[in-house]
Amino acid sequence: MSDLSEFYRELILDHNKNPRNRRKLDNADRTAEGYNPLCGDRVTVFVKVEDDVVKEVTFEGTGCAISTASASLMTESLKGKTLDEVKTIFEGFHDLVAGESCESAKRPSLGKLEVFSGVRQYPARVKCATLAWHTLNAALAKKNETVSTE
Ligand code: ZN
Repeated sequence: MSDLSEFYRELILDHNKNPRNRRKLDNADRTAEGYNPLCGDRVTVFVKVEDDVVKEVTFEGTGCAISTASASLMTESLKGKTLDEVKTIFEGFHDLVAGESCESAKRPSLGKLEVFSGVRQYPARVKCATLAWHTLNAALAKKNETVSTE
């Protein structure tokens, strides 16, 4: 059921070959770096947040096709979203690729991100797919440290 179908494979290859939003964001107010030693993937995520909305999100980095395509599709999916929506999408994506259960009823619709559903069959690839997302989370969390003690 969650095979990497031809369409999904092509979408991942396309985003690996022509990554969207792969550039440094000069006016970013939050950035973080991520590294996946298992595969050698490196990513830096740049975010500009205004009024709790992700105005702009870009990335730089090098890595395998899954990590690059994941970062590319992530930036496409999150631009214009509120921080609450980003959290929901992050949790949904994490559940999609690494969740315990296969039930998708609770998951929000993830659109193109559903292409990564096949990754759950390859545990070694889960970190490639989630690297950019964890890095984004770290970037978003940074600012909160000064506001929240959590
Ligand atoms: Zn990788």
